[in-house]
Amino acid sequence: MCLVQPKQFPNADATARACGADDILFNAQVFDSYEESLKDYSLVFGASARQRMITWPVLTPTACAEQTLQIQAPVAIVFGRENSGLTNKELEHCNYLVQIPTDENFSSLNVAAAVQIIAYELRMAEFKHNSLASSSLPTPVSAETMEQLYQHLEHTLIDINFLNPNQPRLLMRRLRRLFNRSQLIDSEVNILRGILTAMQEKHKM
Ligand code: SAH
Repeated sequence: MCLVQPKQFPNADATARACGADDILFNAQVFDSYEESLKDYSLVFGASARQRMITWPVLTPTACAEQTLQIQAPVAIVFGRENSGLTNKELEHCNYLVQIPTDENFSSLNVAAAVQIIAYELRMAEFKHNSLASSSLPTPVSAETMEQLYQHLEHTLIDINFLNPNQPRLLMRRLRRLFNRSQLIDSEVNILRGILTAMQEKHKM
């Protein structure tokens, strides 16, 4: 956390409100100049309730969090003063503005609430990133394997008199929709085809 020209720092009230996260306050870097505080960051987002400069690109907190995780360099997210926000001049140092979508008539949140929403999005993006990276599920089977499963399924449903081939209606299409949603993997297709074979054999008896 970086603070630019804080009115009072350190401050007993702030430490009390930090409720155990006072180490973050304690380690905050304090700057006299806004420009100086940003000089080590490669990407700077300015959190702003209002779109003031028509040409400045505006991102949602979700898009901001995704970009933050993608870049391998320090990223700053700048928040403004509680009563007056960030000046246009301060926003000019930002690569993007981040705007939390709110009711049009009530766009300006308390700074703590704004920080919390953006921190939440960063956290969620990190979870998503990590779960994608560590996802160990094998790749779904090919369309050809699915086609073989559907053939097997259709034959079995006819064998057990569940599907009337002269009046198939939409049954197979509906079953395709169901299985296509699941993105089956090899072992799952094997189980299903094993069940179908067992049903066919039982029916023959
Ligand atoms: N009257 C000021 C209010 C600032 S609120 C103004 O309209 O600019 C304090 C800070 O919280 C803002 O500078 C901004 O960094 C953040 N903030 C508040 N509402 C926000 C929103 N909807 N989207 C993004 N940041 C917001």
